[in-house]
Amino acid sequence: MPQSASTPVAETAVRPAKSRKVPRVLVLGGGTVGLYSARRLRKRLGRREAAIVVVDPRPYMTYAPFLPEAAAGSIDPRNVVAPHRRALKGVDVLQGKVSQINHAERTVEITPEEGEPYWVTYDHLIVGLGSVARTLPIPGLAEQAIGFKNVEEAIAVRNHVLNRIEVASSTWDPELRKRMLTFVFVGGGFAGIEALAELEDIARYTIAHYKQIEQDELRFVLVEGSPRILPEVSEELGGYTLEQLRKRHIEIHLSTFLSSCVDGHVVLSNKLEFDADTIVWTAGVKANPVLQQSDLPLDTMGRVTCNAALQVVDEHGEIVPDAYAAGDCAAVPDLYNPGSFCPPNAQHALRQGNHLGDNLARVLRSAEVTDYSHKNIGAVASLGMYKGVAQMFGKIKVRGFLAWVLHRTYHVFAMPTVNRKLRIMAGWTGSLLLRREVVPLGALHDPRAEFRAASVPPKPRVVEEKSDEQPADPAIAAAAKPAVKPAAKKKSAS
Ligand SMILES: Cc1cc2nc3c(=O)[nH]c(=O)nc-3n(C[C@H](O)[C@H](O)[C@H](O)COP(=O)(O)OP(=O)(O)OC[C@H]3O[C@@H](n4cnc5c(N)ncnc54)[C@H](O)[C@@H]3O)c2cc1C
Repeated sequence: MPQSASTPVAETAVRPAKSRKVPRVLVLGGGTVGLYSARRLRKRLGRREAAIVVVDPRPYMTYAPFLPEAAAGSIDPRNVVAPHRRALKGVDVLQGKVSQINHAERTVEITPEEGEPYWVTYDHLIVGLGSVARTLPIPGLAEQAIGFKNVEEAIAVRNHVLNRIEVASSTWDPELRKRMLTFVFVGGGFAGIEALAELEDIARYTIAHYKQIEQDELRFVLVEGSPRILPEVSEELGGYTLEQLRKRHIEIHLSTFLSSCVDGHVVLSNKLEFDADTIVWTAGVKANPVLQQSDLPLDTMGRVTCNAALQVVDEHGEIVPDAYAAGDCAAVPDLYNPGSFCPPNAQHALRQGNHLGDNLARVLRSAEVTDYSHKNIGAVASLGMYKGVAQMFGKIKVRGFLAWVLHRTYHVFAMPTVNRKLRIMAGWTGSLLLRREVVPLGALHDPRAEFRAASVPPKPRVVEEKSDEQPADPAIAAAAKPAVKPAAKKKSAS
C-alpha cells in the first residue's frame, strides 16, 4: 500500500536541484544490488548520459555469503568487503543513511553520520536497501543477542567466541565456565547453519591449543522453530546436514523457539533452561524498515512491489515512473516459479543488480526494458574446514569435501573485484600452509579501556592498621588467599 513520507520535505535542508544537463540516477544502498547496478549502468552509459550517485552509511559492499568464513578466520574480514571508492569508478558516493524517500517529489532525505539531514534530488531511483534481521519481542533478546548480517557482527562474534574460550580456560567456577562455553544459534537457515558450523569448527580447533579445556566442555546449541533445517535444499540434504552436525555433538532443538534470554538465562519452548554468554540470532530477515518512510508501494511484508522488469509497480500493477528496485527489499516475480517471488539471496540480488543496470540504460536510450528471469542454480554451504553440502540444478547433491570446494569456487567467482578474489585465494593458501589464526582480539571492541584506566588519577594509598589476624606483609597475605585450582588433566580430543 502506498505510504506517504512522515516529515514534509520543507522541514529539513533541501539540496537545491541544479538544472541538470544529464539525468541523475540515485542508487539507495551500496550493497549487492547497489554496487552491481551502478557498475553495470556506468559500463553501459557515458558520463554525459547519466550521473550516478550511490548512498550508503558504509563505505563498502559486503559479500555476506563469506561472513561465516570470515568469522571462522579462513578469510580476512577486510577481504569480504569491496570498497565503494575503488569498486565504483565514475560513480559518486554519499556516505549517510537514507531516512525518507519522497518519490512524488523525486527527493530523498539523507542523514549523515554527523551533521544535519539533507535532501537530494534525482531523476531516476534504484532501491537496493536490502534487509535487516527479523527479530521477535523475546525478553532479553535485544540486550543479550547479536545478529550475523554484517562484517562488524561477524568479527564481533568471532572475537567473542575466542575470548570466552580464553577466559574460561582460567576460570575454575564450574557454572561460570559452562556459561562461557555455551554458544546458542537461533535459526537454521543457510546463514545460521553456516555461522554455527564454521564457529563450532574453529572453536574445537582453538581449544586443541588449550590444556585447561576439554572438548566435551564446548556446548553448541541450535534452536530452530520449524521441523527441519536448510529449507533451501532438499529434505534429504537437510537431513544429511543435521546428521553431520549431530555427529559433531552440536545440540539441535527443532520445532523449538527461544522463549527468553534475560541476563543470558536461555529458556526454550521445550522447557529446557541453561545459561549462555553467546546468543547469535540468525532467524531470517525482513525488508529494510526505512521503506516505511517512503511513498513507494509496499507489499504486506514491507517489500517494494515490482514487475519482472524490476520497475516499481503499484497495487494495480501500474508502473511507478522512474523507480526501480531489486534484491532483499523488493518483491520481484519469479518467472520460473509463477505465483511466487524471487527468494532473498545473493544469487538473485547480484543478477538483478546487473539486469536493473541494463534496463535503466535501455530506458535512458529510449529502448524497451526486458524481464528478469533466472533459474535457481542451486545452493552451496560450508560447514567448516573441508566440510560442506551442495545441491546443484535441483538434482545434483554433493556432500563433504567436494561440496566445500564447490562452495569456495562458486563464491570466490561471485565475489566482486579481482583484487578481492586474489586476496581471498591468497588468504586460503596462507591458512592451509601456516594454519588458521585463532588469536582472540577482544580488546578491539573497547580499545580505549586500557588508556582510560591509565588516565584515572591514582587513589591515595590507605595505610591499614595492623591486626592480629592479617599478616602485614602483602606477600604473606597473598599466600594466605585460596590457591587457584590446578588445571584438570587433559583428556584426548573427541
Ligand atoms: C550470513 C549470511 C550468509 C549468506 N549466505 C548466502 C549464500 O550462501 N548464498 C546466497 O545466495 N545468499 C546468501 N546470503 C544472502 C545475501 O547476502 C543477500 O540476499 C544479498 O546480499 C542481498 O542483496 P541486497 O543488495 O538486497 O542487500 P545488501 O547486499 O544487504 O545491501 C543493502 C545495502 O543497503 C545499505 N543500507 C541499509 N540501510 C540503509 C539506509 N538507511 N540508507 C542507505 N543504505 C542503507 C546497507 O549498508 C547495504 O550496503 C547470506 C546472507 C547472510 C547475512
